[in-house]
Amino acid sequence: MLSILPVTKIVIETGPFDIQKIKNPDIEGKDYQNGPMKDFFHVREYVLYRDGHKCQVCGASGNIPLEVHHIIPRPKGSDAPDNLITVCPNCHDGIHHGEITLLKKPPKSYKYETMMNIMRYRLLDGIKEIFDGEVGLTYGADTKSKRIDAGLKKSHAIDALMISGNTQALPCGVVYKRTKKRAHNRQIHRAKFSKGGIRRRAQTDFEMFGFRLGDRVLFEGKEVFVTARRKSGYFKVGLPDGSFVKDGVNYKKLKLIERAKGTLTVSEQRKDLMIAA
Ligand SMILES: [Zn+2]
Ligand SMILES: [Zn+2]
Repeated sequence: MLSILPVTKIVIETGPFDIQKIKNPDIEGKDYQNGPMKDFFHVREYVLYRDGHKCQVCGASGNIPLEVHHIIPRPKGSDAPDNLITVCPNCHDGIHHGEITLLKKPPKSYKYETMMNIMRYRLLDGIKEIFDGEVGLTYGADTKSKRIDAGLKKSHAIDALMISGNTQALPCGVVYKRTKKRAHNRQIHRAKFSKGGIRRRAQTDFEMFGFRLGDRVLFEGKEVFVTARRKSGYFKVGLPDGSFVKDGVNYKKLKLIERAKGTLTVSEQRKDLMIAA
């Protein structure tokens, strides 16, 4: 990514919630302007995770908007996880109408903490080793509350904007995606033999005239990538953001700079991201 955009800060969303905000909800401390609601997003995500994203009454899960019920109602009862339980909207209604009695008690467990902390700091250390700038952490619960505040729909790109912390940034409408590059044409194996019993190759050659798909090459003084190859020796070259594309380029005019890596960056125009433009 650093080759496309000047990145000065990396923010990583390392998990759905911050366990510290659940254990010590800072409701009246310095974070007061972010309010108890913000911390409650973390508690809510934690409770859903703890309960396996399943209604603790009927077991419903999947494509239903699960809710978190206060066992002892507020303001008497707290917003702590041991007073909260995951229920589906139907059962939630039933509980509040006295038709369903909750039998199950929420477990008291922070097992998740150890696992997440190990993963989080391993990831953070790895990134600090290869990146010079500032590296920060965030959580899914923060991303979600920022997105709701901004009144935006859920999508990977919008979540990325929320994660960055610079939620007022104007999206340019182009999304860069890292995808696994294919080194061959992916065709299904041809079982049939042609006349003469010689089996045709099911794939294009891994290397063609010494070039692979995705190789970084020099063409007329410009650094471009090989995006298509043909047996005729005339290739297609271009830049990942689509700002340069040229077809019918003789391979002899290309000079290899760097072999293709496992991933290729592609760009995509996204109208839904032109929110503020
Ligand atoms: Zn239910
Ligand atoms: Zn309730």
